[in-house]
Amino acid sequence: MIAAFDIPVHKVEHSKLRDIVLENLPFGKYFTDHMLEADYVDGEWKSVSIKPYQPLELEPSLAALHYGQAIFEGIKAYKDQDGNAVIFRPYDNFRRFNTSALRMNMPEVPEEIFIEGMRKLIALDKNWIPAIKDHSLYIRPFMFSTDHMLGVRPSQTYKFLIILSPTGPYYAKPMKILVEEHYTRAAPGGVGFSKNAGNYGGSMLATTEAQKIGYDQVLWTDAFEHKWLQEVGMMNVFFVINGKVFTPSLEEGTILAGVTRDSVITVLREKGLEVEERRINIDELMEAYGKGQLQEAFGTGTAAVIAPIKELRYKDFIMEFDINKFPVATAVKEQLAAIREGRETDVHQWMFKV
Ligand SMILES: *Cc1c(COP(=O)(O)O)cnc(C)c1O
Repeated sequence: MIAAFDIPVHKVEHSKLRDIVLENLPFGKYFTDHMLEADYVDGEWKSVSIKPYQPLELEPSLAALHYGQAIFEGIKAYKDQDGNAVIFRPYDNFRRFNTSALRMNMPEVPEEIFIEGMRKLIALDKNWIPAIKDHSLYIRPFMFSTDHMLGVRPSQTYKFLIILSPTGPYYAKPMKILVEEHYTRAAPGGVGFSKNAGNYGGSMLATTEAQKIGYDQVLWTDAFEHKWLQEVGMMNVFFVINGKVFTPSLEEGTILAGVTRDSVITVLREKGLEVEERRINIDELMEAYGKGQLQEAFGTGTAAVIAPIKELRYKDFIMEFDINKFPVATAVKEQLAAIREGRETDVHQWMFKV
């Protein structure tokens, strides 16, 4: 077991912080002074350290580049009113990371490295957390296979890293969404529920084609009928029909179990709204829309938190929404911000002090 105090720290000589203004930075473009790096060799995690953010030296035969054992997480840290660093629900991401690892036949990363390492890294780069409303420090833990070998087999060596990126407010532009009828993101028995790099690689062409005809993202549907709704782009999706909230259920393993999704469901239920997790068909949505009962549609994820949908298109049927009349999405967004900023009691202990 590696306790946090055992992780050696090699500090930078000069912080890059002097050359950067932490306001309105674009998502994921700038990185802090340090990173965490650990190697899995001979069946155990070794050489864990925090060091200056720097390039990696890798072999061209690196297994991850050829066979895609690569997973990641996305988490946000904030500064509270007293200037402390707080992380939003890191244990949920930690558990999900190891769920992804299991599916991709990769070793688990122990809490002592994932959580304690993250904690120590953030404590070190704490001054990089913008103390500005809606700004955050985006945390990217990731792992990939590192065998130097072209034979197809699960790699025996892996690298785990955590890098940190200060980020400005993510303006969730109201989205125009095309219901995907040709490409498939995930099928039962596949890897849709794991946060692996290949899911992103496999989704880009569909998104690019949707963008060519004026849409921002696709709404993924099931592999067989292309009618059962899954996720919107790389976000979970919610609908409000007649005051009741619906989101696709997780059972089939085709949907990523978003931490934001879970937070949204929890907050809405506490507000007394009924939330149903179940299979949702596009025909059902169109019917509700026709009757004037489909009131809201929005995506949820760590980067944007809540992203309203202003248009949803299935074949030639276009559903339009007035996103200024999204009371449910607005209320949940505000409640999550209040919990984050300490204006509301954190009853679930979602905010984890570094
Ligand atoms: C990361 C991700 C989400 C959102 O999960 P959060 O934990 O809320 O950030 C949703 N769908 C996919 C495919 C994802 O990769």
